[in-house]
Amino acid sequence: MYFDNSTLVFLDGEFVPAAQATCGVYAQSLHYGYAVFEGIRAYNTAQGTRIFKAREHYERLHYSCQSIGLPLEYSVEELTEISYQLLTKNNLADAYIRPLAFAATPHMTLTAPASANLLMAVWKWDRYLGSQSLRLTVSPYERPNPKAVPIEAKVSGHYANSIIASSEAKGRGFDEALLLDMNGYVAEGPGANFFFEKNGELFTAPGGSILRGITRNTIIDLARESGIKVTEKFFRPEELRGATGAFMTGTAAEVIGIASVDDVVFEQPFEQTIGAQLAQRYTALVMGETVAAEVSA
Ligand code: PMP
Repeated sequence: MYFDNSTLVFLDGEFVPAAQATCGVYAQSLHYGYAVFEGIRAYNTAQGTRIFKAREHYERLHYSCQSIGLPLEYSVEELTEISYQLLTKNNLADAYIRPLAFAATPHMTLTAPASANLLMAVWKWDRYLGSQSLRLTVSPYERPNPKAVPIEAKVSGHYANSIIASSEAKGRGFDEALLLDMNGYVAEGPGANFFFEKNGELFTAPGGSILRGITRNTIIDLARESGIKVTEKFFRPEELRGATGAFMTGTAAEVIGIASVDDVVFEQPFEQTIGAQLAQRYTALVMGETVAAEVSA
């Protein structure tokens, strides 16, 4: 699914066949989850292949590296250039791009490595959570405590929490988990941010215990441009009662409607909510049919 015999990846300065790209079993990142990554999308637009918000994604990759002390030697411009080259070499226009900065060095001690390795892979990926409105459940697992890890960095190890929460929710028959923060406020999904709509306004969790998604920021900008009020605030699951609708946002998931959270069923079908209008505007933006929103979240 991710690669075949003709797929190339970028690994430490070279484009190599994916099937031959390897990493040693003593790699520090493999043992400790000490790595950072990004999830980026390229779209086949009328102006050609366009990576959506490449700068924001690669700046976040740098921020994530700095947060954990992983010394990445590629600039934002170089990373963007490699991404476009990799898409061309793999004949892909509509694709998901996965850069991973990691420590391949055999290094079993708990200290930062002297240098970082870089892997970049591209593959065709449909919307991560599909297109049908989702049934969520509040997870018994919380998001990691922001005093324990730099939670606003996209660190590989944090995704053990995501995998555990998502699998637990699916095991109970739901489509996806909704995680609370350490104080019991709604934070986000395992791989996407969460918004709800009440009285024509949108609400979402503030920074602090979430990954501040680039899609989240884009949706906030698009909403404010259309005169829709967006409030970032702490809220408990009970506040979802009486909400008109809800949705999740993420690069891989894009904008996906939420039908319910446990026994709270949203009042309107997603298609009739503000979220659906914003989803359409998001598609127009990534496809280059409209210019980027100017407001900054
Ligand atoms: N939260 C988490 C935990 C995620 O993994 C993601 C996906 N990167 C998001 C939110 C959404 O972020 P973005 O919109 O930047 O993809």
